[in-house]
Amino acid sequence: MLDKAKKYSWIMSAISKLKWSTKKEVITHFLISKKKYIPKKKTNADVDNILKCALCPNMCRFDCPVLRVEKSETSSPSGKARIAYLVEMNRLNFSDDVIDLMYKCASCDACKEWCPFDFSLGELLIGVRKDIVEKGLVPSSLTIFKEKLEENHTIYEEGITSLGLEAKRGDVLYFAGCTTLNKRKEVANANIKILEKAGINFTTLSNEWCCGAPLSILGFGSDFKKFAEHNIKAIRESGCKTMICGCPECVHTFKELYPRIGLKLNVEILHTSQFLLRLVEEGKIKMKHLKEEYVYHDPCVLSRKLNICEEPRELLKNIPELKLKEAQFDRKETRCCGMGEMLGVTNPKISLEMAKNRVSGLREACNSIVTACPTCELAFKNVNKKLRVLDLSELILETMEE
Ligand code: SF4
Ligand code: SF4
Repeated sequence: MLDKAKKYSWIMSAISKLKWSTKKEVITHFLISKKKYIPKKKTNADVDNILKCALCPNMCRFDCPVLRVEKSETSSPSGKARIAYLVEMNRLNFSDDVIDLMYKCASCDACKEWCPFDFSLGELLIGVRKDIVEKGLVPSSLTIFKEKLEENHTIYEEGITSLGLEAKRGDVLYFAGCTTLNKRKEVANANIKILEKAGINFTTLSNEWCCGAPLSILGFGSDFKKFAEHNIKAIRESGCKTMICGCPECVHTFKELYPRIGLKLNVEILHTSQFLLRLVEEGKIKMKHLKEEYVYHDPCVLSRKLNICEEPRELLKNIPELKLKEAQFDRKETRCCGMGEMLGVTNPKISLEMAKNRVSGLREACNSIVTACPTCELAFKNVNKKLRVLDLSELILETMEE
């Protein structure tokens, strides 16, 4: 009995924070079951890679922001993979606490930075979530969330708001993204004013929907496809050659997730920081002095998933006299704002604690924060409404010469 306990000690740390009934289920299987591991006949999960992650020494856990809040091995990258593996091998059922654990990830890719296999645990978990969806075991709060998203075409209750501009054909399409449209309209308006002042032949969509990333993240694959098809049709009809977007999650979805389901946009897709820097380099926009200090927060989707670290900094360095400070954890070592992977919906308490941790890290460098993602801005404002948090487009507009 002791030998068996030693042999399976790797799994013991992973179950530490689960309910006693789940622990008993795991321990019973290991101690008395003679059965070999039998994988499920049909699964959406990448079981081979989940096993590699489950058996890994898990050194990346020191950088996992969820583990830092939860302080439990169960929530570590490998801890989640171990539990996912047991479920996928028919050794454990999808009980409530197991399902809850499968959503405890911000897909921030901090683990990927350290991973010898280059795994993104966030991506490995999406397959497991698809299994949860197919089995009809999705928590009711997430089913309601999905139904509202399908009805409103945005994750926000009030329905998608429009920019109120006439949709026409143009070389450059500004795709605002539903978080910007609904919660940071000032950012959308700043981008539009910059494009107008720079004399760009641009357009917007009158029928823009959420890019669909929340559906993909939560495992609702077929619903995600409907959103992708709608947006692709609208983008093609705009006749644009370049599409720009200020939301890193939208850029990642258009560039990486749509092609994975066979929907590819044959247009250049840029984050606004890249496009605005291009306008500066072409001499189409010039900025005047601003004697202020800001610390730049790297959104994890922008820096880790899209490898865009320098363009926002280069852009801001073009504002004369602006002092750009760096946080202790910057660029690809950034720390997640807490809202990644819909964590603000699935685990709001963890999400808020992660945001608090990041805000206090940023404020060690400077009290004014500039970033390049509307979701990060919302996360930081949730910590303290009075916090000065701006999008880089707002700073560019404020300092742009007439
Ligand atoms: S994500 Fe990579 S480094 Fe982290 S536990 Fe899994 S396999 Fe190991
Ligand atoms: S993606 Fe981020 S939150 Fe998820 S397991 Fe990796 S480090 Fe933790």
